[in-house]
Amino acid sequence: MNTKDYIQREDKYGAHNYHPLPVVLDRGEGVYVWDVEGKKYFDFLSAYSAVNQGHCHPKIVGAMTEQAQKLTLTSRAFYNSLLGEFEQYITEYFGYDKVLPMNSGAEGDETALKLCRKWGYEKKGIPENEAKIIVCEGNFHGRTITIISMSTDPDSYKGFGPYTPGFITIPYNDTEALEKALEDPNVAGFLVEPIQGEAGVYVPDEGFLSKAYELCKEKNVLFIADEVQTGLARTGKLLACDHEEVRPDILILGKALSGGVYPVSVVLADDDIMLCIKPGEHGSTYGGNPVAAKVAMAALEVLKEENLAERAEELGKKFRAELRNIDSPMIELVRGKGLLNAIVIKPTNGNTAWDVCVALKENGLLAKPTHEHIIRFAPPLVITEEQLMESVDIISKTILSF
Ligand code: PLP
Repeated sequence: MNTKDYIQREDKYGAHNYHPLPVVLDRGEGVYVWDVEGKKYFDFLSAYSAVNQGHCHPKIVGAMTEQAQKLTLTSRAFYNSLLGEFEQYITEYFGYDKVLPMNSGAEGDETALKLCRKWGYEKKGIPENEAKIIVCEGNFHGRTITIISMSTDPDSYKGFGPYTPGFITIPYNDTEALEKALEDPNVAGFLVEPIQGEAGVYVPDEGFLSKAYELCKEKNVLFIADEVQTGLARTGKLLACDHEEVRPDILILGKALSGGVYPVSVVLADDDIMLCIKPGEHGSTYGGNPVAAKVAMAALEVLKEENLAERAEELGKKFRAELRNIDSPMIELVRGKGLLNAIVIKPTNGNTAWDVCVALKENGLLAKPTHEHIIRFAPPLVITEEQLMESVDIISKTILSF
């Protein structure tokens, strides 16, 4: 079978809920992936930042295969010998009292929303069914009905109503709007991405997160950070909130929590919040299973052992500087933090961000447009400076060819 055959088969038997670039991947190692024809690429998407530790990291894969031969799933009807170890490890790692493990990022967000509402009723005294959560325009938190109910992107929500009520939407990066919205006494939480990833790597003004946190505290409102994409060293710190020394009341993590080998997400919070959820009120068959526990501990160890946050910080600065040096009217803007970056493309001669990504693929680098005119560049954080500069050459050559 060749590339075309693989694509036709997916097209025939799979739902058409994605529009992938025409490349069929077969193998990955570190910053590289290979397609079914044997061609090698730099992976500048990293599975939407799930593969921060690099493809098939031996330590993480080793943890998974070892545990997979011993015990994979017990459900939470029983205790298992690894969950407690993982819970202690991750709560100490991030400095919270408790953790609630789930699988996907969307489930992490759903968990945080439930937890926030429950806290609102039990601790803040909001009247039953009146709790509201403030969210931001341009947000992306996943694909469930409740999550798309908070979305302002018609591609996400249109045609899927009726929607879950209880959300107030404000512009991103707007503390005045937040202050106003917080005047409603029934607000229980403010859910925010420290950098809006899917929207196109929108970095808020410096001071936005710390000011937003302070405003929430004044009104006894929970500050909930969705760090599913920005967390785990991607932006040059362990958490993107660390850039402003903000400690979220509820922290959501996913993606790179497994280094891309297994779906693992978590919600972290202190007892006052987390213990609002009682037995039987929330859960997941796979959440907190022994393989996930082992994999997540290995993935977190790798972040520290390989200094991935420091690497992302240092290489990110060099990367942005190099991109800004590319002399092309097609690049309108370069933005980002650490190794979560994007360029805004000005369509030229009818060529869009999609066409640039197709050309990048031809030249050996994989990236995906987000919206019509933005290309995100988020390589695995294990990339070396030499590999990064090689990638810059590919990007530069490709853009100048238009
Ligand atoms: N939250 C953020 C900030 C995300 O970027 C994503 C996915 O891109 C999600 C949540 C959803 O994660 P998942 O696709 O694992 O459900």
